[in-house]
Amino acid sequence: MIEDNSHKLFQLQVKAEIDETLEDLRQPGINYVAGIGNSIRPKAMLVGEAPGPMENAKGIPFSGPTGKILRSLLVQNKFKPDDLWITNAVKYMPVEPGTQNFRKPSTDEVRLMVPYLAQEIAIVCPNIICLMGNSAIESFFTDGSVRKLRGKIIAYEVSEDFPPFSLFVTYHPSAIQYKPELRPLLEEDFKTLASLIK
Ligand code: URA
Repeated sequence: MIEDNSHKLFQLQVKAEIDETLEDLRQPGINYVAGIGNSIRPKAMLVGEAPGPMENAKGIPFSGPTGKILRSLLVQNKFKPDDLWITNAVKYMPVEPGTQNFRKPSTDEVRLMVPYLAQEIAIVCPNIICLMGNSAIESFFTDGSVRKLRGKIIAYEVSEDFPPFSLFVTYHPSAIQYKPELRPLLEEDFKTLASLIK
C-alpha cells in the first residue's frame, strides 16, 4: 500500500486552526495555506516566508508573482515536480489587524509556527531543506541570516526520533523584485541545490 501523508498534513492543519497561540494570525479572511508537492520523502523541501494575497486567495503557496520567479529558477535547473515539497515558515498571510494588507511576519510569529514546520518536516521527511530568506532561517537559527549562511550545507539532527536532514540557505526569490542584482546569486544557489539532489 502506498503511504499517504495528506491525512497527517490535514490533521496538522486542523491542529493549527484551533491553536489559541495562533489566534492573532488567524484574522478574518485569512486562510491556512498548506504546502504543496511531493509529500512523501521528496529530495528537497523549499521553505519560504508566508503566503501573500494570491496565495491566501488560492490556498496554494507561491501562486503569486514571487511564485513566477521561483518557477523560473526551478525550470532553469530542471527540477521535477516530484523532487519537491514547497511550503512556508508561516502558514497564514500576516496582515495589519482589521485589514487585508500583507506584512512581513514578526520573529515571534515565525517562532509560534516552528512546531508546525517541525511536524511538517517529520511527516514529509525531505533529504534536504532549502531555507529561502530570513524568516525561514529564523525557524531554525536565533542569529542566522542569509548573509551568514548562504551556500553552506548544514547537517541538522534534531533528535534520535527525528530523521536527520541537511539545510541549505539562499535568498527569498522575492528579493529579485527589489534587488535584481541578486538574480545571479539565486541562480547559482538553485544550480547548487539541483546538483545536491541529483
Ligand atoms: N512568498 C512566500 O514566502 N511564500 C509564498 O507562498 C508566496 C510568497
